Amino acid sequence: MTEALRSAARRMGRAGLVRPRHEARLLAARVLGCAPDRLIAGNGRPFDAGQAERFERLVDRRLSGEPMAYILGEREFWSLRFTVEPGVLVPRPDSETLVEAALERVAERGGPLRLLDLGTGSGCLLLSLLNEWPDARGLGVDLSAAALAVAAANARSLGLRERARWRLGAWSSGLQGPFDLIVSNPPYIASSAIASLAPDVRSFEPAGALDGGPDGLDAYRAIAPDLGRILAPAGWAVLEVGAGQADDVAALLGAAGLEAIGTRRDLAGIPRAVVARSAA
Ligand code: GLN
Repeated sequence: MTEALRSAARRMGRAGLVRPRHEARLLAARVLGCAPDRLIAGNGRPFDAGQAERFERLVDRRLSGEPMAYILGEREFWSLRFTVEPGVLVPRPDSETLVEAALERVAERGGPLRLLDLGTGSGCLLLSLLNEWPDARGLGVDLSAAALAVAAANARSLGLRERARWRLGAWSSGLQGPFDLIVSNPPYIASSAIASLAPDVRSFEPAGALDGGPDGLDAYRAIAPDLGRILAPAGWAVLEVGAGQADDVAALLGAAGLEAIGTRRDLAGIPRAVVARSAA
């Protein structure tokens, strides 16, 4: 196996992957059905023929640009394990900024929090928050039935099924509320910028979760005007934004009658979460 691993890592490095050895090890561990850190002990043993073939197939998928998360079928977010498959956006560390912002701002106000996640995808935002707040309940909305199936599976595997509900639909249309906290990571890439995204994102991740229209702000224009209606008094909205969009999104929230409270930066220092509040 050591030789197969080395050769795969070489090819993956030549293809421009940033962490070829690490990724090759993850793929080998998947083939052997063991944890990646167990490989060290067992790596003298060659793959049998079936394993070698399965390993090569996984390596080829990665070389074709398919994201690791789809190949492995999972991605960690907020230290929780989420199932992901093609059709849902892969959870990103940037989005953990929203969880931090929500935890920082939203204090329990007696009674369980009612959460809403618009465009929930894998469910990573809603489920991470439910996991933090044992009394909270939440609804995740998505236009994609495939995404909702993944989100529901994640709720089950994380033991959160009882407190999460899912709804097929367009943003908040048809919802009554009130919600104490609304989170969303909507599509926010300008259509003209989609072509210049990294090939694994562009070719494999769902366009519906990425493409935010001509200036990237279409989703916020759809979401913002209805927030006041479905937010509880003094309820919070925490929205993910792309680089450079925070002021525009804060303005849209302000125009919708919310008070824009501030932003929270991601690990790269980019304002990533816009925080707003409805009137008390
Ligand atoms: N953060 C994602 C990216 O840059 C975009 C996600 C989104 O549009 N909400 O690939």
